[in-house]
Amino acid sequence: MSRKPLLDIKNLNVHYITHEGTTKAINDLNLALYPGETLGLVGETGAGKTTTALSMMQLVPDPPGKIISGEILYHDQDLTKLSEHELRKIRGNQISMIFQDPMTSLNPIMTVGDQIREGILLHQKVDMATATKRASDMLEVVGIPMERYNEYPHQFSGGMKQRVVIAIALSCNPEILIADEPTTALDVTIQAQVLQLMENLKKDFNTSMLMITHDLGVVANVCDHVAIMYAGTVIEHAEKHMLYRTPKHPYTQGLFGSIPNVEENVDRLKPIMGLMPDPTNLPTGCTFHPRCPHAMDICQVEFPRITRLNDEHWVRCHLYSADEEVSHE
Ligand code: SF4
Repeated sequence: MSRKPLLDIKNLNVHYITHEGTTKAINDLNLALYPGETLGLVGETGAGKTTTALSMMQLVPDPPGKIISGEILYHDQDLTKLSEHELRKIRGNQISMIFQDPMTSLNPIMTVGDQIREGILLHQKVDMATATKRASDMLEVVGIPMERYNEYPHQFSGGMKQRVVIAIALSCNPEILIADEPTTALDVTIQAQVLQLMENLKKDFNTSMLMITHDLGVVANVCDHVAIMYAGTVIEHAEKHMLYRTPKHPYTQGLFGSIPNVEENVDRLKPIMGLMPDPTNLPTGCTFHPRCPHAMDICQVEFPRITRLNDEHWVRCHLYSADEEVSHE
């Protein structure tokens, strides 16, 4: 089966360049998001998950951030080559993003209804009355009575605020929704409700979703495919059940070591001996080699290429080079 991704990131490199040195935040990263699916982007803090999301939106702060090379293909256009004017038409309209803390996205001195309406007016050619009606409807869609249209963010709980953010993000019916740890700031009981809401809305709106998370419970519940990140690159990319059943990369095997199947209720990544490398001073070769129980001589000198194990599973590790069917590069 060979499907065409909706968003296809190829060999992306993003650096932050300061007087103190160069931080290699994203290193030769490949990622594919397919229509109507949820891709989980999983990794520890500092793996480069948020920089990946900001790159998709072309919102990496420049300076100090710079996309050094690579492509981000969306409908056959490379987002890295578009002008700011062209990108503004895509952001919020075709690709929307939800951040971890709803308060960073909401304006404290504007009513929630008006904030949803503002996004609609910005991206759609509709009059004020139509936009107000759509904003009221969106409140209802995310489970907030439309009578609360004229209330302010501080009158809402954390979970309700995140519902408002979701309403803003979905109000223009984007093709892609990027959710950066959208439930981390919420109470555990509220997390499940918000995730369920996002899952339902994704289906209703036929939106593809990139779910950034370090929570394997979220991955098990909502994702179709999973990309595992380490030191700024995706080291394994697979259909969810394949990844849980047969994790191939030693780092993924370490993370999933205590999780024999997707049904098991384990929420956190299992710590692996050692630390993620300093992105200003990455190890040569495979960046995981100082922590890898299977490291070979080649691992210290050569950055592993992608080995495609089947249509739904690839890995960046020298252990599988001999199994290679198709090189992705
Ligand atoms: Fe380990 Fe080598 Fe594979 Fe890296 S390439 S994960 S060091 S075996």
